[in-house]
Amino acid sequence: MTKLAQRLKAVQTQITNSAKACRRNPDEVLLLAVSKTQPIEAVKAVAQAGQTRFGENYLQDALPKIQALNEAGFNLEWHYIGPIQSNKTRAIAENFQWVHSVDRLKIAQRLNEQRPADLPPLKVCIQVNIDNEPQKAGITAAELNNLAEAINALPRLELHGLMAIPAATASLQQRHAAFAELRQLFNALPQTNTLDTLSMGMSHDLDVAIAEGATIVRIGTAIFGPRKPQPKN
Ligand SMILES: *Cc1c(COP(=O)(O)O)cnc(C)c1O
Repeated sequence: MTKLAQRLKAVQTQITNSAKACRRNPDEVLLLAVSKTQPIEAVKAVAQAGQTRFGENYLQDALPKIQALNEAGFNLEWHYIGPIQSNKTRAIAENFQWVHSVDRLKIAQRLNEQRPADLPPLKVCIQVNIDNEPQKAGITAAELNNLAEAINALPRLELHGLMAIPAATASLQQRHAAFAELRQLFNALPQTNTLDTLSMGMSHDLDVAIAEGATIVRIGTAIFGPRKPQPKN
């Protein structure tokens, strides 16, 4: 087994154990492998080990990987999880199956208009700025339900749930509280039959996130090791 395959397996085991420890069905927690800044060969190795969902933050970094893995015959699901500038929405709508980081109506409208007609509706989550950090992407809790209603009216988007990234400085206890709050916001969303996703938890807080109800954990470092510096988008 390759080193990457071993690390993937260790993360899968951690998810299973963590779910069982809080009496959840491990199948309810999906693993998103965050491959931002990682080379094509690393993504290929992890895909070969059976991983099908990959998360990317930077469009220019992601597109060559998506193309290469497609051409190599892998049938993968790509999730866009980074901040979204308006001039990037078309390529995102054309190349990804999921977007976790929708945080304003203008972006939702553009993704809706630009989602190609021959593809199924784009699955989206709304990113909530759960710790109200001034420089962080995400909508405030107070504005959330209005945006959710607006997205529910867009035919080419399918709202699946919420995503949040707690403050980098937050303690595990503070993360517990932040994730619990995200779950409460999720429960208070206008009800539809596509709501099924709480995207929360990264390499260092996945156990806490699973205990608070995460259905997708986004794991980079624990699978791929340290990242290269951020590329220009
Ligand atoms: C980079 C990133 C991750 C993965 O973080 P790790 O700590 O490496 O697991 C998850 N979610 C988002 C939104 C990210 O930008």
